[in-house]
Amino acid sequence: MLDTITGDASAISPATGDWLERIRTIGEQQLAPMVRRIDAEGVYPEAVMRALGGAGAFAAHLPKLAPEGGDLAAAIRAMAAIGEHCLSTAFCMWCQNALAWYIDCSENASLRQSLGAAVARGAALGGTGLSNPMKTLFGIETIRLTGRRVAGGYRVSGLLPWVSNLGAGHYFAGIFEDAERPKRYVMAAIPCDSEGLRLADGARFLALDGSATYALRLREVFVPEAMLLADPIDAYLPRIRAGFVLLQTGMAFGLIEGCIRLMRQAGVSLGHVNRYLPQQPDAIAEDLASLIARVERLAATPFETGPAYWRAVLTARLQVGEAAVEAAHAAMLHCGARGYVTTGTAQRRLREAYFVAILTPATKQLRKMLAEMPH
Ligand SMILES: Cc1cc2nc3c(=O)[nH]c(=O)nc-3n(C[C@H](O)[C@H](O)[C@H](O)COP(=O)(O)OP(=O)(O)OC[C@H]3O[C@@H](n4cnc5c(N)ncnc54)[C@H](O)[C@@H]3O)c2cc1C
Repeated sequence: MLDTITGDASAISPATGDWLERIRTIGEQQLAPMVRRIDAEGVYPEAVMRALGGAGAFAAHLPKLAPEGGDLAAAIRAMAAIGEHCLSTAFCMWCQNALAWYIDCSENASLRQSLGAAVARGAALGGTGLSNPMKTLFGIETIRLTGRRVAGGYRVSGLLPWVSNLGAGHYFAGIFEDAERPKRYVMAAIPCDSEGLRLADGARFLALDGSATYALRLREVFVPEAMLLADPIDAYLPRIRAGFVLLQTGMAFGLIEGCIRLMRQAGVSLGHVNRYLPQQPDAIAEDLASLIARVERLAATPFETGPAYWRAVLTARLQVGEAAVEAAHAAMLHCGARGYVTTGTAQRRLREAYFVAILTPATKQLRKMLAEMPH
């Protein structure tokens, strides 16, 4: 499988100069015209994802591959630029960025140079099935994938309810429990085209239907050693967890920015009455700026492992989820009936915003984790 992917890391653009402008242009010219179809028809914007990969949107944060040594804040800004138009596409970017992050942070050098470089360029697309293990490790549910050691790798079986940014030829990162050694977990990148793996497309969502989200059934899927990211994950997980969480803030920042714009647009004709609403765009913009500054400070040191840092990451993620829902609610009130029609942007943003709050780690999981952390 890996032989078919060229691993030319030099094709990745650095996070400098007009890099963000190129991503903004893709958002405005290629994505904005198709946002309604993504929302209403569940169209997966594959060409946009490939273009974003070509512009370097999935490479800036990678500590080993990025020429500048990895800039998480740059990747967050790129997802925000796209999230201003469409949360579904910004979420697909997060899936891709998370997969690239896991591979780049792994000790598997040949996988970094082959699949890692291809994911970073958007030549290979994929996602991350870590919701279930993230909930398992924090005592919320039980692990759904199990792997049996065999010659040259593992045979993995189980079912994951939702994994996004998938399709034929895509990859996802998964964590499975070693069948012979309970509580010993292994992480791997797995091709969607593996024998024994089925993608089931049964659900329609309130929003995010263009995110190519599938239920995954694995029956004795062979995962070769060459595809392992960590075995076991104990020392590796603390390295990837802050990046996993912080990268999620980008799509939410974009959504909030989009909501501020909607409120300001509505204010042109409705300002005389909208000014009585309790949440005003200038105040939301001020809060957004301080949230971004806080996240960017945390994003500068994603490999910190101290409990105070992890607490600050979780707190920021919780507040970003809550701010997204509040901003979308405010946009709905400012836009009134023009936001309430089925083609209205405000109602789409409100539906999208709830996703930030239910995506793992969801608001309720974050509150549980924070409540159980030592002070
Ligand atoms: C559009 C979309 C895309 C997603 N993409 C990904 C992804 O790429 N990777 C990933 O790992 N996770 C993904 N998820 C899952 C997501 O991260 C959360 O795990 C999920 O939203 C539920 O989280 P929660 O903490 O609220 O758990 P809860 O919803 O409180 O509980 C989750 C449990 O409910 C079960 N459940 C799921 N659906 C139903 C249903 N219809 N009826 C009854 N029970 C159900 C699940 O099996 C699970 O055991 C996606 C979810 C959605 C809606």
